[in-house]
Amino acid sequence: MERRVVEVRGAVQGVGFRPFVYRLASSLRLGGFVRNQFGRVHIEIEGETPQLERFVEAVAVRPPDLAHVEELSWSPQEPRGEREFRVDESLDDGCPDGAVPPDVATCAACRAELFDPRNRRYQYPFLNCSDCGPRLTIVTGAPYDRARTTMAGFDLCPACRLEYEDPRDRRFHAQPTACAGCGPRLELLDDLGRPDLAPSGSLLSFANILRQGGIGALKGLGGFHLVCDARHEEVVETLRRRKGREAKPFAVMVRNAQDAAGLCKISPKERALLESNRAPIVLLERRTDGQLRIADAVAPGSPFLGMILPYTPLHHLLLQELGGIPLVMTSGNRAEEPVATDARAVEQLRGVADAFLVHDRPIRVRCDDSVTRVVADEETLIRRSRGYAPQPLPLPIESPVPTLAVGGRRKSTFALSRGNRAYLSHPLGDLDQSSTYDAFRRDVEFFQSLLAIHPRRIVHDLHPDDASTQYALDRAAREGGEVLSVQHHHAHMAGCMAENGLTGPVIGVTFDGGGYGLDGTIWGGEFLIGDYRSFRRAAHLEEALMPGGEQAVREPWRMAVSYLSDAGGDLGWLQERIPALKIEVVRRMLLRKVNCPPTSSAGRLFDGVSSLLGVRDRVVYEGQAAIELETLARPQPPSGAYPVDLLRKNGAWVVRVGPVLAGIEKDLRMGIPKATIARRFHSTMAEMIRVTLVRLRDDSGLSDVVLSGGVFMNELLLRETLRTLGRERFSVFRHRRVPTNDGGLSLGQLAVAAGGGGRRSCV
Ligand code: ZN
Ligand code: ZN
Ligand code: FE
Repeated sequence: MERRVVEVRGAVQGVGFRPFVYRLASSLRLGGFVRNQFGRVHIEIEGETPQLERFVEAVAVRPPDLAHVEELSWSPQEPRGEREFRVDESLDDGCPDGAVPPDVATCAACRAELFDPRNRRYQYPFLNCSDCGPRLTIVTGAPYDRARTTMAGFDLCPACRLEYEDPRDRRFHAQPTACAGCGPRLELLDDLGRPDLAPSGSLLSFANILRQGGIGALKGLGGFHLVCDARHEEVVETLRRRKGREAKPFAVMVRNAQDAAGLCKISPKERALLESNRAPIVLLERRTDGQLRIADAVAPGSPFLGMILPYTPLHHLLLQELGGIPLVMTSGNRAEEPVATDARAVEQLRGVADAFLVHDRPIRVRCDDSVTRVVADEETLIRRSRGYAPQPLPLPIESPVPTLAVGGRRKSTFALSRGNRAYLSHPLGDLDQSSTYDAFRRDVEFFQSLLAIHPRRIVHDLHPDDASTQYALDRAAREGGEVLSVQHHHAHMAGCMAENGLTGPVIGVTFDGGGYGLDGTIWGGEFLIGDYRSFRRAAHLEEALMPGGEQAVREPWRMAVSYLSDAGGDLGWLQERIPALKIEVVRRMLLRKVNCPPTSSAGRLFDGVSSLLGVRDRVVYEGQAAIELETLARPQPPSGAYPVDLLRKNGAWVVRVGPVLAGIEKDLRMGIPKATIARRFHSTMAEMIRVTLVRLRDDSGLSDVVLSGGVFMNELLLRETLRTLGRERFSVFRHRRVPTNDGGLSLGQLAVAAGGGGRRSCV
């Protein structure tokens, strides 16, 4: 006989770990106990040595699906003669790592029960178990148990209680467990939000409304979705009009991966993501020969479709009821407003939805669907939200004090650190909106209390006018503590380093729409050399003026005028579409440099070229002009690049833009197809990166490269850059688990602060 103490660390709480350990120990006839203890799982087992060996191996190698074992250690102990195995009360110190597990899609066992007429939870839209169901979105406090979720108001019925308390049951300590007798209920509301007593049942009536071409608002895990028949052109257009979302693609929910395969090409890796228990929206390439048809208005002009599978029992029931009808699934908010939750939703969505399918389980944390894709054979997150957030990420440098980082202004996230772990929030939207700002403030405070992290340091972007900067300064003025500012692109670079476990020094290629530079101009085509602590701007794209400032972001044709004017090009290319008078006004602005901030932004260069090629002159969502330029270039084979030329200026290399514009103009004059030009432009951007990096490697001896910034959302550019740099023997690192856009900024800010970088702000 032998006794061992086993300690397990990682994502091990709220994921069905203790029932798993109980079943395993019982099946191996081991005595002892398991309990949650200070954020770890503490196990004591006693029995024959071979059985103990098998136990430890199984815990390390085959933990439950949702669990992630980061560390497992064991030590021998004096045997006590225990024969039975039990689950003990938790010991908590108030800061368990697993305090806020992410939400989990309905598991296979629960799905089977949902459609089994003999099961007592047959067709119950809120069933779940210790392996699946809502988590983050219903948590009201820590540690995670039923009393501190929005299920607290639902008393367990005797049958549910038995399961909940039985360590052999798969619902043992499943905090949100419920049944039709004791749990949440569905309710149908009409277009004005009044209860609608549907004789055939709420779900069936709702399905009928959708079948007949109506638009429904569906209360989900982290907020409301607007849903409608995705095949129905007119309905989808009506939804766009009512929601005020002109062009940005909608996601589509289908019953299963087979249905998805009828619409899109799916690799095994993509299929695994689609079917994973995180249930993200997966960006897939459309099939041209698909059997199923989707309305053009779902994702106008895009070669991709965002596909998602049902991830709550309610989704499963609805999709089943609708047969093979694919549904548009878009967050239930009007453009630019935060996702609607509960009572306010009905108010906000009046006039958008024809009916509401709601329920009485409150949503505590609003959380969008995550968006992901496979790039160069690896999952690459676009939006890290439901199912992923707020799982901790490791920081390569331990943070000396608990720290809060508040991100930037768009795709705003915040991040909290304790020691070497970072908790990155779900994105909250655009902080310039007052309602988003309020949600941001509330969620920061809420997460602090859930995670029991009381920051003694706050990190913000260098931009003095960002709402997040204001928030950081206000808080520091009130509460004291240290405040640091971090330059936008330094944060991008550091975020990518942190994600890849690097400590530097590296060369950081950070290409994005723009961020506040150290010299007060807008940077965005940057080659930085440094580490967390410090950096220098080793190279950057040649600056161009942005006529009208922010207006040039919304109207890419202004950038086209700007680049063409600099390159001495012919403005006639634009005259077919833009009135001559308008062009003339902008040209004069440029000459006199009135309201024309300079920028080295790579995003603006994409915009300018997009407009010059007649692809997109005005945008209605961020990145639209570049995305459409990529779409045009994608199907083309590579066909060379425009000249790349570097200049030395004020101790840094400047990548010239003029020769690129001249090359494009020459091609236009020769009548080269625009798609070919678009393809050449993408190759040129990759070539600019290569040439500049070779030069910087010669200067510095560094060959570790990180790629970051929203421009690398461009898959064509990213793939080509990886290929090109691979040939030159650079070690290239990119984002995968954290978005490359500003959604990952707060993680980078944390890493900079942990590494001793950033500047102290004056409060
Ligand atoms: Zn389940
Ligand atoms: Zn019950
Ligand atoms: Fe950025």
